[in-house]
Amino acid sequence: MHILITGSAGFITSHLVEYILSQGHTVTGIDNYITGSEKNIKDALKNPSFRFIEHDILTFDYSTIAEPVDIVFHMASPASPIQYKKHPIETLQANSVGTKQALDFATEKNAVLVYASTSEVYGDPLVHPQVEWYWGNVNPNGVRSCYDEAKRFGEAMCMTYVRTKKTKVRIARIFNTYGPRMDINDGRVVSNFIVQALKKEPITIYGTGEQTRSFCYVSDLVLGLWALATKELNAGEVINLGNPNEMTIKEIANKVRAATESTSDLIQKAIDLDDPLKRKPDISKAKELLGWEPTVVIEEGLRKTIDYFKTIL
Ligand code: UDP
Repeated sequence: MHILITGSAGFITSHLVEYILSQGHTVTGIDNYITGSEKNIKDALKNPSFRFIEHDILTFDYSTIAEPVDIVFHMASPASPIQYKKHPIETLQANSVGTKQALDFATEKNAVLVYASTSEVYGDPLVHPQVEWYWGNVNPNGVRSCYDEAKRFGEAMCMTYVRTKKTKVRIARIFNTYGPRMDINDGRVVSNFIVQALKKEPITIYGTGEQTRSFCYVSDLVLGLWALATKELNAGEVINLGNPNEMTIKEIANKVRAATESTSDLIQKAIDLDDPLKRKPDISKAKELLGWEPTVVIEEGLRKTIDYFKTIL
């Protein structure tokens, strides 16, 4: 198969590219390196089945891809709170105009389109764990709205194409993911804590540290994305992809401390407005429709991620 991936030099996408190439398929990737990096795809670039185009998706001329395409993964977007707050307009555009262009292309090619949505569409959720039917509790003009409302708009665009053009869309609501190649500067909790622990610096807990997240190791997530793209499904299926192993931010800090044998202190810092209090995916639908669930336990995933950060620090 030939697969097109927008945002192909990012943390999750670079693993997705490698997985798809390892399955013997051909991949075309587009990225403008706004948050992705060439380092992430340096091995993939050596593979003749990978064609990389450095370009902004908003101005990319999709008609230059003449050959058939079976699957489009529309993944391009800043995704960490620090990055989307740094690039708010680009984030809104990648998920609105960018989604429309990817949908037009997938429709013309009669390809499956997988849209990378997010657990952020649930906002600060009032339903726990989060089930796909829940519409969310989102501040439409808060500091996170450039991301969560952009993704909600992207979902609306996808479903409109399903209804009006019968585009073969599947929507992945991706929950917190961690692993090698997380960007050291994007401020995510797992990468921050590992780097702080390895450098023997204080570990920064925002707020009380009682807020929760559920962390999925990247190789598990990639298998979920691939299953979503390749299983027989109805158009417009929306599926949570994440690991339901919920923990508080203090707990993850202590796990990182134990895994790095670090003596770093935990210090408290101010928490952002609209930082969700709890988050945990209900993955019943993924289990039933995709036969997928995560298998990498947090201790194993942290060990691999810590080994990666040791090589780059
Ligand atoms: N967080 C923290 N210390 C850090 C970075 C993040 O306590 O150095 C908290 C943050 O306030 C949030 C959680 O960890 O409650 C997850 O943050 P992250 O930026 O990884 O992703 P989010 O789930 O908020 O998109």
